Amino acid sequence: MAIRRIAVEEAFVTPEIMTQWHVVLAGRDVEPGFAKMGEAILAQTPANKPLDDHLLDIGAGRIAHMDSIGVDMHVLSLTSPGVQVFEASLATRLAAASNDALAAAVQAHPTRFAGLAAVAPQDPPVAAREIERAARALGLNGLIINSHTMGEYLDAPRYRPIFEAAQAFDMPIYLHPREPAPSMVSPFLDYGLYFAGWGFAAETGLHAMRLIMSGLFDRFPKLRMVLGHMGEGIPFWLQRIDNRYLLEVKIGAVDELPKLPSQYFLDNFVITTAGVTSMPALRLCLDVLGAERILFAADFPYEDDAEAVRFMDGADVTGDERKQIYETNACRVFKLNA
Ligand code: MN
Repeated sequence: MAIRRIAVEEAFVTPEIMTQWHVVLAGRDVEPGFAKMGEAILAQTPANKPLDDHLLDIGAGRIAHMDSIGVDMHVLSLTSPGVQVFEASLATRLAAASNDALAAAVQAHPTRFAGLAAVAPQDPPVAAREIERAARALGLNGLIINSHTMGEYLDAPRYRPIFEAAQAFDMPIYLHPREPAPSMVSPFLDYGLYFAGWGFAAETGLHAMRLIMSGLFDRFPKLRMVLGHMGEGIPFWLQRIDNRYLLEVKIGAVDELPKLPSQYFLDNFVITTAGVTSMPALRLCLDVLGAERILFAADFPYEDDAEAVRFMDGADVTGDERKQIYETNACRVFKLNA
């Protein structure tokens, strides 16, 4: 069976955004999690130079790399934390400029690249207009939002214009990780726990659960969300989430929702394999969610994408499941050309 390998959480950055991160990091009152990122993976060091070079390349060099490991398509997205650490007007301007650069790369290589538009949640009505522009004028395939923005989560009512636009233009929102919000980051700052091994999933899983428990998906039932990293832990907990939700409803600790939390997860979310090459983790997600809700992602250039391909090529799944995960689910979710 011919399978196109489509990887859907593949990062890039523009030179201007990289420069502006360092302006923020050099300033006062830097968010503690972002400051840690500034000391680590965002630091302009010789060790990080190859990473930066990969992030800045959305042209021939990236395609040559994709060819070398047999990846057919990257669904590109502006890397974390994107524009979400800037004041609103700068964030808005840089999101639009990044989306223009992304759209140009996709137009230059339409069979190799697709793209998720960045938005600046700092200004929700303007973000909504950018979503319309990304869908209609730029032809991009969805949106990327890197969890919290200045410590705020998207269930707050002021962010509704973003979801209205995402639903109206049928743009799936990839809720991508970043370091935990300032309100909870302290115990994550030791031992590297703020980072991708634990803190990213704690932050992003919490954010997704806030969206579910806030009733967002009753207000926007056609909204489509994407979570990376095998669903940021949520598939593992889904039965217990329902079980304890029902107890909380019974004792009056939480308002009853029209559906169980797990049902919103099944109805409104898909997940990706990004950065996980564990067959037990994939097996659990297949059992809990079904192959139609799992998409392949490598998380290039942060992860070894050759290893991700070896894992998915050799995963203990049926041929049909492999094709769904590598190709057909991505084509459906992001409306890619077959
Ligand atoms: Mn990523």
